Amino acid sequence: MIASNNIEKFLDFKFIKYDTIIIGSGAAGLNCALHLVEEGIEPSEIAIITEKLGGGTSFNAGSDKQTYYKLSIIGKQKDCPTDMAQDLYSGGAMHGDIALIEATNSIREFFHLVQLGVPFPHDKYGGYFSYKTDYDPKQRATSIGPLTSQKMCECLLRAVNEANITIFDYYYAAEIIINQSQGYKESVGLIALDIKNLSNHKDLENLIDSIKIFQSKNIILATGGPAALYKYSVYPKSQWGGMSLAIKAGCKFQNLTESQFGLASIKFRWNLSGSYQQVIPRYFSLDKNGKETEFLNQYFDSFSQLSKAIFLKGYQWPFSSDRIEANGSSLIDLAVYYETEILGNKVFLDYRNNPESYNQNELDLIAKEYLENSNALLNNPIERLKQLNRDAFELYKSHNIDLTKVPLEIAVCNQHLNGGVKGEIWWETNIKHLFAIGEINGNHGIHRPGGAALNSGQVGGLRAAQKIGNVYNNSNFLENEDFKKIVRNYLKNFIAEFKNLISNEHAELKSKEILRNIQERMTKFGSIIRPLNGLREAEQNLKSEIKNHNSMVKLDQNLEILDYLRVKDALLTQQYIFNSILNYHESYGSSRGSYLIIRDSLNPSFKEQYISPPRKLTCFKFVKSERNFKNKIQTIKSSNGRIIFKWEQIREIPKESGWFETIWKKYKDKEVFK
Ligand SMILES: Cc1cc2nc3c(=O)[nH]c(=O)nc-3n(C[C@H](O)[C@H](O)[C@H](O)COP(=O)(O)OP(=O)(O)OC[C@H]3O[C@@H](n4cnc5c(N)ncnc54)[C@H](O)[C@@H]3O)c2cc1C
Repeated sequence: MIASNNIEKFLDFKFIKYDTIIIGSGAAGLNCALHLVEEGIEPSEIAIITEKLGGGTSFNAGSDKQTYYKLSIIGKQKDCPTDMAQDLYSGGAMHGDIALIEATNSIREFFHLVQLGVPFPHDKYGGYFSYKTDYDPKQRATSIGPLTSQKMCECLLRAVNEANITIFDYYYAAEIIINQSQGYKESVGLIALDIKNLSNHKDLENLIDSIKIFQSKNIILATGGPAALYKYSVYPKSQWGGMSLAIKAGCKFQNLTESQFGLASIKFRWNLSGSYQQVIPRYFSLDKNGKETEFLNQYFDSFSQLSKAIFLKGYQWPFSSDRIEANGSSLIDLAVYYETEILGNKVFLDYRNNPESYNQNELDLIAKEYLENSNALLNNPIERLKQLNRDAFELYKSHNIDLTKVPLEIAVCNQHLNGGVKGEIWWETNIKHLFAIGEINGNHGIHRPGGAALNSGQVGGLRAAQKIGNVYNNSNFLENEDFKKIVRNYLKNFIAEFKNLISNEHAELKSKEILRNIQERMTKFGSIIRPLNGLREAEQNLKSEIKNHNSMVKLDQNLEILDYLRVKDALLTQQYIFNSILNYHESYGSSRGSYLIIRDSLNPSFKEQYISPPRKLTCFKFVKSERNFKNKIQTIKSSNGRIIFKWEQIREIPKESGWFETIWKKYKDKEVFK
């Protein structure tokens, strides 16, 4: 047992030491561990620390056909890394060199997964056939069905276990230890909590006893997206996120304004993309008195228009501010948002009945042809769904939702953060020896092709491992005494924070109530609608919540420390995102990507204009102008307690073609890794 006032005694214990520690056991983290071994790091020198093995997004999320995006390698289809890079880059606010790296390495990472046993389908000639996904001008998307990322994780985990890489399961990473003695910041270790050791009493000794100190040469953040921020979310409940680890370490972030939102079921969280829309289900709302309305009829003048928008929603799943006008498919998301957020109604998708205006002769031609070709032009949505994609129907059944019997409650849900920690071309952050891969890395731009997230997570793990294996292979651990000196300060702060929490006799709030505030704020100012009005006040309230968080929370037992830390993470993450949105407003940014910008006045110098969606949705009159910052990336970083923004010019896609002999030499001399 460690006395609470005796940090020195605590420091006498041996630190847990690894060359490289990966935080997070999703598809990105597991894959990186395997690449580290390939790059020469001994498996016994690698550790994975994870809140819950089998938790997180990759293990638990999916859609009707969960997509993996890679270079096209079918038949006569012409494709090359620069073309694919161009399509990633053209989403805007993305660096060209990063786009080229993700495109070039997509094939290597795809075959790595094939090799590990992910059953991506191929034809009798061994051709890995693929299809078009959203924002994809070629056919680069592939899938193994609704659970692509889950299967990836299973195969990756099997290989990690076979390699005997240590996994610290039920460990919560609380803070990265930073050394600044060399005049720059570098990561040298990690403070974690051993979750299983936490007692169900209120007991400071036990809390302190649960702290574990890790020393490392390199740390890889693979903690996924910030999943707890929104009221309506399609992230799995087991994912929380760990962006505050990077915030507290002093990392620079980018594109924090850019997220993905779309329609999903909310009881069982699942994306309603692809087949779920292509079968033209009936949308209806229920008000507080139980009155049912097919509200979409108010926005679309004919069934032909309506069926086109619903059908396209299948491909164009993420909400897009460019798809509102001219009866675009995102008008549906906006109408759903209006029903749930403004009117307080519930919204459902009904597969048992056709929309009331349904008329097969008026069915949009693309939808009709698609359903006909799939032998699925049947009488009602459920028959069409069963015929088109039986797995998609069965999936709900396996979660006790029988679509032949009940409608599905839906909402516009948060699904993905395109921005995140800024990394260089080896995914290393501005903190030396600290890397960020997978969803916590913010490489994507304003929009991205569907499936690019999984590819980016795999490529990021490869690149980080390559730098660690080739550049940092001779680095040393910090001397024991120097490490202890740094750890002492961290421990002092931790213990003081825990002590305060335990002795908070007058605190009344539970963590869940604070989280509810965070989610309300996020839905109001940071979802598909982004009003400036009220945002500054909300940011001020948030600031004071962060300041008082430690004394506001009522802790009844030690296990609740996890909720406390997760909510603290969400507060700090929201502060970065809110400030990014505020800065975007103050820079007169236009509506773009996944959000509509709403401001009370227009700035004539930027030729701003209001766009009004039809009918009741005119309340979402949004600002559009040329000022969409496609060629810039907004970065945010904390310095001496102040938040600093920079709008950085995007780097173009590299054009040099190289010469084999010179590249060969640079490769042998390891120059290419620098
Ligand atoms: C419904 C849905 C559908 C999607 N569909 C697609 C698709 O079709 N194609 C595509 O490319 N992408 C898709 N995505 C996005 C993609 O699934 C994710 O971006 C990706 O899985 C993230 O992987 P990751 O390894 O970075 O993070 P995760 O898989 O979320 O893993 C994060 C890990 O970090 C751990 N962790 C977090 N914080 C801590 C901490 N403090 N201490 C210890 N451990 C911690 C978690 O427990 C978890 O193990 C979808 C996402 C959702 C939600």
